[in-house]
Amino acid sequence: MSELLTLENVDAYYGRSHVLHAVSLAVRRGEVVLLLGRNGAGKTTIMRTAMGLVAVRGGDIRLRGRRILGLAPHRIAQLGIGLVPEDRRVFAKLSVRQNLELGRKAPSDPDRPGAWNFEAVFALFPALAELQSRRSGTLSGGQQQMLTIARTLMGNPELLLLDEPAEGLAPVIVEVLAERLATLRHQGIAMLISEQNLTFARALADRAYVMESGTIRHQGAIDELDAHPQAWTRYVGF
Ligand code: ATP
Repeated sequence: MSELLTLENVDAYYGRSHVLHAVSLAVRRGEVVLLLGRNGAGKTTIMRTAMGLVAVRGGDIRLRGRRILGLAPHRIAQLGIGLVPEDRRVFAKLSVRQNLELGRKAPSDPDRPGAWNFEAVFALFPALAELQSRRSGTLSGGQQQMLTIARTLMGNPELLLLDEPAEGLAPVIVEVLAERLATLRHQGIAMLISEQNLTFARALADRAYVMESGTIRHQGAIDELDAHPQAWTRYVGF
């Protein structure tokens, strides 16, 4: 598998606050990678940094070997990364269909044809087809999460960054979400998924990185990490 997203020794800052310390991480084509860690460990910051939303003062960030560090977020999105933020951010006054419309982007790479359209997202999330003309602010948390993912897919990402996608959702909805993400995985979409607990995406994931205080403390296949239960307890909290 060739490398899709690579962060190499990245130092990132919010103002003067040094938040990521020499973070190195890779997601290969088609791979699902978990980013684990307690509240405040730096998971959201890694995703926002990859998207060009956080100041970086050291290291490098590449997509398919090409430097994306310093590019504007919309350029990075166009090149194939889609961020699904933790707070979902649907446009509450717009309909489901209008939200999806806003996610549409022409891929800038001619080798990556734009496969996602209304038909394709409705096939993946049939409930959204029924809700097309509903105002998005009236949807349940689970429906809003599906809508945010669907809207991001409309931009034809090759890599999805999902920030705590299961947070606050009922267990039955989390199961549906896991199934949908498994389908995306089969379609070859790579994912970096952040979580505070491992139960949700474990079955989907190839590898995991475990963070604490803005640094990567452990990395490896999930089973390898299982061999270090004390690390789970310390860094992830279970
Ligand atoms: P959570 O589960 O709460 O989202 P996280 O692992 O995603 O946690 P981050 O949100 O990346 O963690 O936060 C990493 C560190 O950066 C924390 O110490 C946090 O207080 C700090 N931080 C986050 N956002 C900002 C900001 N806008 N300005 C200053 N510091 C911030």
